Amino acid sequence: MEQESKNKSGFDSRDEVVISIVVPTYNEEEVLGEFHRRLSAMLATLPERVQILYVNDGSTDGTRILLRNFGEKDPRVAILDLSRNFGKEIAMTAGLDHASGEAVIIIDADLQDPPELIPELIKHWRDGYDIVYAKRIARDGESAVKKLTASFFYWIMQNIGRVTIPADTGDFRLLSRCAVAALKQLREQHRFMKGLFVWIGYPQKAVHYRREPRYAGKTKWNYLRLWNLALEGITSFTIMPLKISTYIGFVTALGSLAYGIIIIFRTLFFGNPVPGYPSLMVVILLLGGVQLITMGIMGEYLGRIFNETKNRPLYFLKDYDTPEIFQPETAVKKYEAYESADAGAINER
Ligand code: UDP
Ligand code: MG
Repeated sequence: MEQESKNKSGFDSRDEVVISIVVPTYNEEEVLGEFHRRLSAMLATLPERVQILYVNDGSTDGTRILLRNFGEKDPRVAILDLSRNFGKEIAMTAGLDHASGEAVIIIDADLQDPPELIPELIKHWRDGYDIVYAKRIARDGESAVKKLTASFFYWIMQNIGRVTIPADTGDFRLLSRCAVAALKQLREQHRFMKGLFVWIGYPQKAVHYRREPRYAGKTKWNYLRLWNLALEGITSFTIMPLKISTYIGFVTALGSLAYGIIIIFRTLFFGNPVPGYPSLMVVILLLGGVQLITMGIMGEYLGRIFNETKNRPLYFLKDYDTPEIFQPETAVKKYEAYESADAGAINER
């Protein structure tokens, strides 16, 4: 691919490569200024051409105005405005759909993912890896409960899920064009991106980094949302819970059979003095509980089937002009104009 572009244009292939940076943002006005400053400072050191694609995930604060502002000053910036808040997984998907770079990097806006790690991601991509993901060595600024629940979740996914999701890995990663093309074919409504990144395969490489606490603003994830994300992860990648309920059913049925036989013989040999109210209650309540849980598990899957069969688009864009900027030729043209106009300005801003 690189070779091709070199032949066509006569440029050094390194200059031709476009790296897209996808940033999902939802109510991030407090950090965006600092984020854009740090990102731009880092990008200034890169030889590659860069596009920055901010996805505004239906923010209700000043995020949109801030992004417009960046876009006016910096032609490498494009904004994808979603019609409402769709959640981070969909925001990332929208970004991947419209990013046209040879490599696409997904990064959070809150500076928990250090932009300074990007050159290292690119280095491994040049070495031939399709997915280079950042794995954190420390979870600074996170509560013990969050660390515990997170490690429990990874344990479950590793043991019953069909894909092995690397622990302590967020969405901060680089994807090659090939990996992006694969991901774009997965149009499921219930998207657990961490799982999908692994599911598509391709050579993957981890890069270690220290995860900082949020720079400013609040996390959008409360425990309810995290619980739902975990459910999404489990139900999209394994039907183990359904199997487990079948086995529990078998075990209780066998148990009841054995118990039934015992009762029959006891009645035959010792008569029936009608005891057994407590044991009756226990059995009824236990079976009732098991049945409800099983139905709940089936419901989780059924609900997902329901949502998938509706086959709705994953998101809507508010701003239909923006994606045009991301046609490769327009982007490169714009970049050239920008480069010749004012090369060093970004660094100072
Ligand atoms: N985000 C988003 N849509 C949402 C929630 C979050 O685009 O509905 C973005 C958010 O702006 C940030 C990233 O996803 O850039 C990570 O969010 P957050 O920091 O709240 O998550 P955490 O780091 O606590 O997992
Ligand atoms: Mg964060």
